[in-house]
Amino acid sequence: MKKFLKYMRKINQITSSVFCKLKFRYAFPPNFFYIAVTKSCSLKCKMCDWGGDFPESPFTQNLGGVDNNKELHLEVIVKLFDEISWYRPSVNIIGAEPLEYSKIIELIDEATLRGMETSITTNGVLLNEMSDDLIFAGLKNINISINGTQEVHDKICGEKGLYNKVVDGIKNLEHLMKKYKTNEPIINIVFTISNHNYWNILDTVHALRDLNYNNILINHFTFISKELASMHNEKFPNIKVGPKAVYHSDPKKVCIDVLFSQLEKLKKYNHRIHIRPVLNKNELEKYYKTDEPFIQRNSKCICLWTEANINVSGDVIAKFYCPYISFGNIKEKNFFLIWNASKFRDFRKLGKKFPVCYRCPSYFT
Ligand code: SF4
Ligand code: SF4
Repeated sequence: MKKFLKYMRKINQITSSVFCKLKFRYAFPPNFFYIAVTKSCSLKCKMCDWGGDFPESPFTQNLGGVDNNKELHLEVIVKLFDEISWYRPSVNIIGAEPLEYSKIIELIDEATLRGMETSITTNGVLLNEMSDDLIFAGLKNINISINGTQEVHDKICGEKGLYNKVVDGIKNLEHLMKKYKTNEPIINIVFTISNHNYWNILDTVHALRDLNYNNILINHFTFISKELASMHNEKFPNIKVGPKAVYHSDPKKVCIDVLFSQLEKLKKYNHRIHIRPVLNKNELEKYYKTDEPFIQRNSKCICLWTEANINVSGDVIAKFYCPYISFGNIKEKNFFLIWNASKFRDFRKLGKKFPVCYRCPSYFT
């Protein structure tokens, strides 16, 4: 079954890359669902607009949508699962902090019962106490943020003792997986590069060497500078965006020589480390210091054909980095009626045409 699903996803990805070139902009059912289940998060990370509470940021707008609900009700998600589970897409549960969602275990249970694989992306604060339940609910993947060694991570996330708490949580998870003789969930540690930690990547990888993780994913900082937001708003006055992730962080303060040297050494480190995307020195310079576009490998934003994103209000949105537009709400309509309605198809035409796309991870795919 797993092999079959993998094969089907591959076929869907290939056919989507052909379909996205056609004029009518219809899409096959998406391979991946990203569902934001709660607005709660106990941290205030420096490179996150949610923790920093900036209402004009596209991340804040996309996450919350228009209503004041703190959570997406489980019944709404289960209704969605009943609509989509026939073809077994992968379900990625995100937040703010998904482990703060009151029904997180029931949600994973419902997906597993319907044969869908689940992933969560978490700050790890509640990992220690929830690991047992997560394993038994059948969680497939867990992405845990660690953005530096002890002092650096605690400073970025604004909580003393956090690093040790998260590492203890990972050790406990590993211990329980061994006890129950299971290889799942797959453990991915996610490190996001910013001006607060670019010199600290190798030390972090070294500090985590005794953990039994599957992968470390090193991601470049995703941001929209004030200049890029203005450039966008001049060109698209009807789809405005604000700056993203630059309120307490400044990509221009990243020293490219140091970052490049860290990433080069990392390439030789071990096969479990993945840098996304891999950039040469000139590209790094351009990425962090300018607002210019570069490395567009495909002229279409293929994720608009293969990934569905749903926020805490139940709105189907483009992506959490995109300008906020609701294409419809899953509380009111069947998902597939929204997915291929003219509003979404019209938006697919605009994928990668926005200036704010230049620093979006989907731009490089
Ligand atoms: S844990 Fe995640 S949602 Fe919470 S402040 Fe940090 S980056 Fe933002
Ligand atoms: S590349 Fe542009 S259109 Fe595509 S997800 Fe990113 S911001 Fe949205």
